[in-house]
Amino acid sequence: MKTIVCEEPNRFLMKDTTIPVPSAGEALIRIKRVGICGTDIHAYRGNQPYFVYPRILGHELSAEIVEIGANEQGLKPGDIVTVMPYLECGTCIACRQGKTNCCTQMSVLGVHQDGGMREYMTVRADHLLPTDGLTLDQSAIVECLSIGAHAVRRAAITPGETALVIGAGPIGLGVMKYAKLSGAKVIALDMNQERLEFCKQWAPADEVVNVTNEPLQAIEAITGGDLPTVVLDATGNAKSMESALQYVSHGGRLIYVGLVKADISFSDPEFHKREMTMMSSRNATREDFARVIDSIRDGKVDTGAFITHRAGFDEMIDTYEQWMNPQTGVIKAVVEL
Ligand SMILES: [Zn+2]
Ligand SMILES: [Zn+2]
Repeated sequence: MKTIVCEEPNRFLMKDTTIPVPSAGEALIRIKRVGICGTDIHAYRGNQPYFVYPRILGHELSAEIVEIGANEQGLKPGDIVTVMPYLECGTCIACRQGKTNCCTQMSVLGVHQDGGMREYMTVRADHLLPTDGLTLDQSAIVECLSIGAHAVRRAAITPGETALVIGAGPIGLGVMKYAKLSGAKVIALDMNQERLEFCKQWAPADEVVNVTNEPLQAIEAITGGDLPTVVLDATGNAKSMESALQYVSHGGRLIYVGLVKADISFSDPEFHKREMTMMSSRNATREDFARVIDSIRDGKVDTGAFITHRAGFDEMIDTYEQWMNPQTGVIKAVVEL
């Protein structure tokens, strides 16, 4: 079978490998779509610290089940599924509390171990989710959107609240979408005006603010001086994360969705005077995946507009570089097998 391996930074190689054999509790799946995300691009570029090469990338997957044993979900060969790529230990303190998304031994497919950029792979059967009623494309973006759904659940957004979402990339867009579906008024903040216009149509964001243009004043004006009760930062940019505190209302909360391999610092008085709740959001759980699958099935997510670029498996290596160029207007690129 064909497998694309990231041999070292900036180099993919198409290889011929043998079809893996599932062990107990695993299923054999045939990969149909692979979504490309920022993590993959960082890994390809060599900017992902502690990343080990060679590695098969790909954690945003839709697939067809080829072989599966008896399983609790009643999945059978031929079913179309998405993959929950976060492999948790099941026994650590986080797992014991049901917070499998932040397992102490977290191993993510396509990051810490080989992912789905290949024709077939084996995966724990309990990490497959059926996506009946969804297309193969839609099944492949469930994971990416689940990150946003999880952050919104962490934020415990209630109807009528104002949520500021910083960063209008694929993760930020997912945050905006699920904040809207939770009844929030959404303000999008980014530096790319074209992307902000997309937020207005797609999420749809109620207001957009360009960070290059007195953003604090604009956000104060929109909220009548109150500022948003929830701020979610999906930039993974240390400067943005540090300046996010200023946009939080008194009594409000700040959620870091994007992460950065750096120290960030902030003014304690700015934090303290607000009695701010600050939290991180990591990965997603089965509950978030289920919410995303339902919302797509119910027609609440325009997945067609979200997927802007695609390539066949054989063209992927030559096309990849283009997807890293923001000039191409890429939001989500998908590889088709
Ligand atoms: Zn991803
Ligand atoms: Zn664990």
